[in-house]
Order: sequence, then structure tokens, then C-alpha cells
Amino acid sequence: MPSGIYIHIPFCRSRCSYCDFATDVYRSAEIVESYVSALTKEIENFSTSRAVDTIYFGGGTPSLLTPTQLEKILETISGKFSVAADSEITMEMNPATVTLETLKDYRSLGVNRASFGAQTFNDTELKRLGRKHTAADVRETIELLRNASYNNVSFDLIAGLPRQTLEDWARNLDEALNLQPEHLSLYLLEIHQATPLAEQIRSGRQPLPDEELAAEMYELMCEKIARKNYRQYEISNFCQPNRESKHNSKYWTLDAVFGFGCSAHSFNGADVRYSNERDTARYVAMIESNGSAVVEENKINTSSEFVFLGLRLTKGVDAGEYEKLFGINLREKYDEDLKRMEDLGLIEFSENRLKLTGKGFLFSNEVFAVFV
Ligand code: SF4
Repeated sequence: MPSGIYIHIPFCRSRCSYCDFATDVYRSAEIVESYVSALTKEIENFSTSRAVDTIYFGGGTPSLLTPTQLEKILETISGKFSVAADSEITMEMNPATVTLETLKDYRSLGVNRASFGAQTFNDTELKRLGRKHTAADVRETIELLRNASYNNVSFDLIAGLPRQTLEDWARNLDEALNLQPEHLSLYLLEIHQATPLAEQIRSGRQPLPDEELAAEMYELMCEKIARKNYRQYEISNFCQPNRESKHNSKYWTLDAVFGFGCSAHSFNGADVRYSNERDTARYVAMIESNGSAVVEENKINTSSEFVFLGLRLTKGVDAGEYEKLFGINLREKYDEDLKRMEDLGLIEFSENRLKLTGKGFLFSNEVFAVFV
């Protein structure tokens, strides 16, 4: 299988209260320029050339890159890798950070998929999250993208926000579906310990997330989406026909993905994962001094990752393929655990495929724990 490339752009206009990603507040054009220079050096230093059919710019806010910087990165990738002409090239962006002109420039450089964080269509909730955009900005961003000829657009919503009711969530889903993006990622809010939101919850300024309500929200989301020509293909991802994210699918099917930039993670397609230094300034310094910023490398248990990552997909895991790849009979190896989870209604085994049930998607971590 061709590999994927992930490029991390860590800069954001401001920091959202729930965010745990490796991001820095945008301070100056010079800092971004020196980051791009380190990033291209890291790509040039990559050991081997590979066939590639997806490139994903994530962050952070990659749409803070100028078209010239984007062009420089894409040219460096093309100089090192054999990039398929029909590659999926995704750029994450934030509403209110893009103009029609810039979008057209990105598009002419090859970006053919846009992904952005809408999160909610309620301005009070957006403010509470520390987001700088409004619901009107989300609608405008979709319109700009369509006018700039993007026909593969995805956006994220988060369910289970502080004080969000089931009715609020239903309104968000309706708004999202009315905009008809080709792809939707719908997440349940996760509280990360070192974030301002975690502190607000600890000090009582925000309520603790309600897990039962979050489960109802998840069920409502699956129901509403199924009625609108979208298909759930992964725990948190839904799309119109043939609009699955090709890049993200590589993570769940254990294809090789090479990450560049601070905090970027890579998988070599066989059994090794490695990751880069998380801090932006230290990343730049490491690349400048020795050409690499890898700080962690682990050999993984490929057969167990094949199962628990594959289970994230609605099509599940093909037990025949598993046996062919690893010489292990899945049913026999996990017999007792599989029976227990079947009895709990979390998994099903049909036509030699192991899949999560609807209930299993809600309690997926309990199932994954068996295979980790
Ligand atoms: S825009 Fe995204 S990456 Fe940036 S701080 Fe907010 S959640 Fe984090």
C-alpha cells in the first residue's frame, strides 16, 4: 500500500480551553518561517523514498501558512517521495482564518480536501471553549470553500460540552447536516488534565461531563446521520458515499504514515512507531543541529494493534486476513474474552468478521483493553 504523510503545523491564533494538542500561539511570521525551514530539512533528511497517496496538514492551524510556505513544503515532499497524481491532500483550517483568495491558492497547489473544527453552532458554547470563531463563521467558511472549488469538505463537532443539553446537540446536528459536508467527525468531549477546561471543572466553574447524557448524544447522532445519506465508517467518523478520509483510514488499517514536524508520530508500516520532540522551539533546534527530532521509538505488537485499530471501523476485522498475516486463529486466541463480550452485547462475529455492535462503539475502550 502507498504510504501517507502527516505534516504538523503547531501554530494557532489562540488556545482553546480543552486543547491538548502540541500547539503554540502564533507569535511572528519569522517563527513560522524558521519552523517551515526546519520541517523541509527534516523531510529532505528522510532516509528512503516511498510511494505516497495521502498528505495531511494537521495542527494547530495549518491555514496560518502562506501559500508560498505551503508550496515549499509540497515541493519538498514531491522531491523526496513519489506522490501519486490523484493523492488526497487535506488541510486542516479554522473558520475565520481563511479568505477566498488563500483558499483558491491552496487549491491550485493541490489541496483537494478541507477539514475544520466547527465544534458547535452555539456561540455561547464556542465562547466557553475559548474558540475565536462564531457559528456564522462556520457557515461562511463552507461557502468560501465551495466557491473555491472544494468538493471534499469535512468538519468536526464535539458532543458533551459543559451545560450542553440533548436538544442543543440535536440542533447542532441539524445545522451540520443542513450544510451537507461530504464528511463529519463527531467526538465526545474528552477532558485532558493539563488544560484550562480541566481546571475550570476542578474549581467548580464548569460541571463535570455527564456520561449518560454523552451516550444519549452519541446514539442520537448515529440515528440522525443514518437518515441523511451518511454512513458511519469509524467510531467517530461519518461520510457520504466514497468520502471516507483515505489518510485517517491508514491509521486504522496499519498502513505506513510518516509524520514530520514537532510532535508528529510515524509508523513504518511493519512494527515500529516513533515520534518527534513536542516542543516547537526544541524541535527546530534539534533539526538544525542534527537533522532529526525523534525522541521516542517503540516496537509494537502488530497483531494486537491490527485487531483493536481495525475494530474502530464499522467493517471490523477480517479473521481470515488476521490468520493469513499472523498465523493466529483470532477466535481461538481470544475465545473466553470474545464469548464474554458477545454475552455483554459489545461485539459480534459474523461471516468471519469481528465487529463492535452499536453498544460496543459506546464502550469501545472496554473491548480494546482485551487486545492492548
Ligand atoms: S484551534 Fe484546534 S489546535 Fe488550535 S488550540 Fe484550538 S483546538 Fe487546539
